[in-house]
This record gives sequence, C-alpha cells and structure tokens, in this order.
Amino acid sequence: MRAGATADAPASGPRSAKPRLLYVEDEPETAAMVVEVLSDEYDIDHAATGEEGRRLALGRRYDVMVVDRRLPGMSGVDLLHAVRTARIATPVIMLTALGAVDDRVSGLDAGADDYLVKPFDFAELRARLRALRRGRGPAADRRELGDWVFTPGTQALYSPATGRLALTQAETALLELLTSSPEHVFTREEIVDAVFPGGSAATVDTYVHYIRRKSTPEIIETVRARGYRAGAPR
Ligand code: CA
Repeated sequence: MRAGATADAPASGPRSAKPRLLYVEDEPETAAMVVEVLSDEYDIDHAATGEEGRRLALGRRYDVMVVDRRLPGMSGVDLLHAVRTARIATPVIMLTALGAVDDRVSGLDAGADDYLVKPFDFAELRARLRALRRGRGPAADRRELGDWVFTPGTQALYSPATGRLALTQAETALLELLTSSPEHVFTREEIVDAVFPGGSAATVDTYVHYIRRKSTPEIIETVRARGYRAGAPR
C-alpha cells in the first residue's frame, strides 16, 4: 500500500511544493493516522513493508524518511542499511518500540539521524521532522571524505561497502579539521595545535593510523615532507 497511490497527486503528476516524505510502517491504524496528520505538510509515500520501502527509497528522491524499526520481512534497520550503502543521505527518523534500547542503538548504528519511541506524540514527530529538514539534526553536517561520508555530529563514517563506522572523539576532531579545508595540506604541527594540544607529531601519526586501519588507507592522504590532507574520491 502506498499513500501516493491513494493521494490526489500521482507520482508522475504535477510537482507538489510540499517536501517529499517516505513513511515505512506495517501497522495500518498507525499508518493511516500519521499520513492523515502529516499530509497537510508533506507529500507522503507510504510503504507497508521494508521491501517496498527500499524500492521507493532507492528509486525516488525524498526530503525525509520515517521508518518503523519492526517490520515483517526486511526490518527497518536492514532498509536503512540499504539506503545508506546506496549513499543516499536523506535524513531518517526511526520509530522504535518503548524501552527497546537495542532497537534504538541498532537504528542509529545503521545510519538513522534521530529516533522516536512509540507511541509518540504527533506534534513531536512534526517538530523532529522540521528540525531534521532544517539541518539541525546531529547528522545534518555531512562531508565527503574519499569514498566515505563523514558526519562529525554523530562521530561516524559511512561507506557503501562497510556501512557505519563509529569514531572516537579524537578521530572525529582530526577528520573535522582535515575536511574543514579539503585541499589544504595540514602540517603535523598545525594538527597538534588544533586537535592534540600538548601532543606531538607522533600523536598525529598514531591517530591517522587508527583512522586508516578502521576504514581505508586512502581516507587520509600523506603528502611527503609536508603533512596530511583529506582523501579525494577515487
Ligand atoms: Ca511495526
């Protein structure tokens, strides 16, 4: 079932000025309520299964997605993983069951930008959606880094092959500096001053090594006798 099929604006019809929202939810009553509440503000496609959600997510462009964690067949986490490995950076809110901490963590690990615990308040959902679309969510700051997407706000790297990698605070700070000026070659001294006060050139080399080991060597480029810079896409 797709709300797009029942709403008055078909996929191929005139462009709506409303932001496009993909909503993946298997519970018909919840789905009907959410679609009704949000349809004044969003142009909504509703999918009742993870498979249908994936098909839509990979085939059309959305401004924001709301994905239930627990779906029959393909789970919300699997769907989200498919979306992120396709390098689709659309903000996603995951809906999780009350008290299911594991659900919440696995959702964020899979690349969700925010989560909301069921049952939720519609006003809260609206507010979270607006915040994400205005780029105020923790994952709003997205930077290309080689073949990866780096989100300083969530201390994470995403790659098509690996999915999400968690970074430490120091690793995040180092990548934040390098991506702040992607063409610039930062000397070890500059990096120490900005990221590791009281540290040494060896500290910089160590953290570069950590980041490369957990991702890929090309993520940071070594410029001989000068320093380091952000890796370029291959
Ligand atoms: Ca469900």
